[in-house]
Amino acid sequence: PLLINQLAAGEVVTRPAAVVKELLENAIDAGATDIEIRITQGGMGMIEVVDNGVGIHPDDMVMAITRHATSKVADVANLHGITTLGFRGEALAAMAAVSRLTLTSSHDESGIGRQLQVAGVLDDTPKLTPVVHNRGTTIIVKDLYFNVPARRGNLKSIATEFGHIETIVREVALARADVALTLFHDNKKRLSLSANATNVNDNDANRLPLPRLEQATGMPLTDNALAVSIDLSSLVQSSVAYGDSTVDRAAISGWLWPMTDEQKDLPKLIYVNGRLVKEALISNQMRQLAQSAQLAGMGYALYFELPTQWLNVNVHPSKQRIKISPLNNIMAHLSHTIRSQLKIVNA
Ligand code: ADP
Ligand code: MG
Repeated sequence: PLLINQLAAGEVVTRPAAVVKELLENAIDAGATDIEIRITQGGMGMIEVVDNGVGIHPDDMVMAITRHATSKVADVANLHGITTLGFRGEALAAMAAVSRLTLTSSHDESGIGRQLQVAGVLDDTPKLTPVVHNRGTTIIVKDLYFNVPARRGNLKSIATEFGHIETIVREVALARADVALTLFHDNKKRLSLSANATNVNDNDANRLPLPRLEQATGMPLTDNALAVSIDLSSLVQSSVAYGDSTVDRAAISGWLWPMTDEQKDLPKLIYVNGRLVKEALISNQMRQLAQSAQLAGMGYALYFELPTQWLNVNVHPSKQRIKISPLNNIMAHLSHTIRSQLKIVNA
């Protein structure tokens, strides 16, 4: 079981925030509802992510940090239709190759877990030490790039690197209101978000609760927020099976902030199936709608829930770009709804 070589690993683990992003995605994929992130020195000292997910069976611990061809990404990609960084079962292996990594996990309620340590190279017979640990997983990534001086030299200031980390955490917070998130930097609490209950019976179950939106963006938005709720089911042919799961639902939910005064830093967020994406056509359309309504500015957080068949994720994985196939139809619905919400009367 060889790790990826350090140079290759440095290419996938590009900076501390990339580590945080992968660790958060793993925690969420493991069903965690509570995630604590502890950072020191902008992630260049230590990155620790503690989750209460399903944990890893002792027999699978070595496998988890070993590069593997078949990974759950295939399943997750099916589920979300999107992979962000294009790692395929190699995120932990890549981190382990370029840091001092400690993986601790427990998969049951015994209160006992196993711990595995790697620093660049995995032993032939890696040792699993029993330790006290609640169900869930803790990953500590210390001394990132200790063995890749060129990469270490590329890192920016502590404040810059931590800024990138904070952005990642906020993006996840905006995608998953049902997950509690706490972020510490050098022992100071920087973000503390409790989990919001989501009502599965609610037709707008996916609408992000406003309190989470305000906390995660750090902006007071309640006053002028308009709820967006668009049913796209007419675009879905009934009973079409999409891979393993049958998606019979297509919808957009979210919030809109029409601003008559100039206000900087209004969020402009587009999530597709739980992932933050950049979609120039949608953001251009939103800007045009704001202009038509003679607004000085407009913020929005729109959550698209679309059948995975409509998504092409290989456009630009690292840049969060995706291609949505019946985009014109979706845009027509979006535009129609928002025009009426903004009371745009002209054609
Ligand atoms: P991938 O997520 O693409 O499978 P990773 O290298 O990120 O690859 O993770 C490898 C494997 O380790 C995962 O497939 C999962 O089985 C396990 N794993 C990693 N992090 C966690 C976690 N926080 N909780 C449970 N299992 C995890
Ligand atoms: Mg992963």
